[in-house]
Amino acid sequence: MVERHPGVVIRAMGASDVQVAVNFVRNAGLMLSIKSGGHQIAGHVVADDTVLLDLSMMQSVYVDPEAKTARVAPGALLGDVDRETQAHGLVVPTGINSTTGIAGLTLGGGFGWTTRKFGMTIDNLLSAEVVTANGEIVTASPNTHPDLIWAIRGGGGNFGVVTSFKFQLHDLGPDVLPGLIVHPIENAPELLAEYAKIADTSPDELTVWSVMRTAPPLPFLPEEWHGREVLILAACYSGPMDEGEKAMSALRGLGEPIADVISPHKFVDWQAAFDPLLTPGARKYGKSHDFFGLTSDAIAGLLDGISNFRDPACEAFIAHVGGARLSRIKGTYDSGNKFRPNHNILPS
Ligand SMILES: Cc1cc2nc3c(=O)[nH]c(=O)nc-3n(C[C@H](O)[C@H](O)[C@H](O)COP(=O)(O)OP(=O)(O)OC[C@H]3O[C@@H](n4cnc5c(N)ncnc54)[C@H](O)[C@@H]3O)c2cc1C
Repeated sequence: MVERHPGVVIRAMGASDVQVAVNFVRNAGLMLSIKSGGHQIAGHVVADDTVLLDLSMMQSVYVDPEAKTARVAPGALLGDVDRETQAHGLVVPTGINSTTGIAGLTLGGGFGWTTRKFGMTIDNLLSAEVVTANGEIVTASPNTHPDLIWAIRGGGGNFGVVTSFKFQLHDLGPDVLPGLIVHPIENAPELLAEYAKIADTSPDELTVWSVMRTAPPLPFLPEEWHGREVLILAACYSGPMDEGEKAMSALRGLGEPIADVISPHKFVDWQAAFDPLLTPGARKYGKSHDFFGLTSDAIAGLLDGISNFRDPACEAFIAHVGGARLSRIKGTYDSGNKFRPNHNILPS
């Protein structure tokens, strides 16, 4: 997707390499771009005729199971983080595709299957080691550099070069209750209206995303459905199995699905379940919008939008957030039980 050519690529192995690179670039009056996982669709990691600082070889993940923290290098991918943390039955909330980089995801906020329960990735960022533009190596934390840690928590990157992240971990797994429920797209108006109610009232452990697309040739789908438009409810319960069965019952009771494959899985495997749809080199483009609640107008707009898809690889999905994260935003519930933040941080 991104056709730009840096003049020089520097591949760093540690903070001291980054320090040398930053000092060299500053003293030579050059421009620097930073690449970690290289997953970002906008391609801000690469610019023409500049120095590209590539951190993708710095992939270490060290877990302290006693303190329930992890120190993660910026080139680690989500799969690397999940493998190491889940070896101790621990987790930090991240995204839904195991090949995404932890660095860019954290610097942009980070959300996925366990965000409703444990917050966004940045809610769990305790501190970060940063090489600043003047070449200093500092630890940004609420006590040491409060302005820098504030900017790193969601500012989108490039506030210095982050060379290590320290995360708070939580108990989870190794088994969780996830899976897919597939319906014909014709039933989407009623199903999405019911989905909206479930999304509003479900416990923080339950996260349900809706995906509208043509059915991939999934082995559990009857062949006649392959390539036809479907609504997929993708769900994960991050808590005890028996409570998960109960929490999923309303969702599983909706309509007459073509397939329902909700069953216990290793959390690490579920974290990679969508990888085949999000392969490197697929040249995909995406855009998104934040909203509170799913009105009938929004449902109609979405369904109208997907009827104009021109390629079987196109999809629209609704990511379910709220829960732990919303409880940290100050605001009130209106008479319709909809959350209204005090500050207009998101479009309504
Ligand atoms: C298929 C796909 C699925 C996704 N799913 C999710 C999801 O479920 N949840 C979610 O929250 N996001 C998701 N994203 C978005 C993803 O989090 C961002 O694209 C993120 O930037 C990727 O991280 P990266 O390390 O690969 O970033 P890169 O592409 O390497 O960098 C992204 C930006 O951060 C800057 N940057 C990178 N590393 C550093 C560093 N060490 N210090 C300072 N600045 C730095 C870069 O210069 C660039 O501007 C997804 C993206 C894709 C393509």
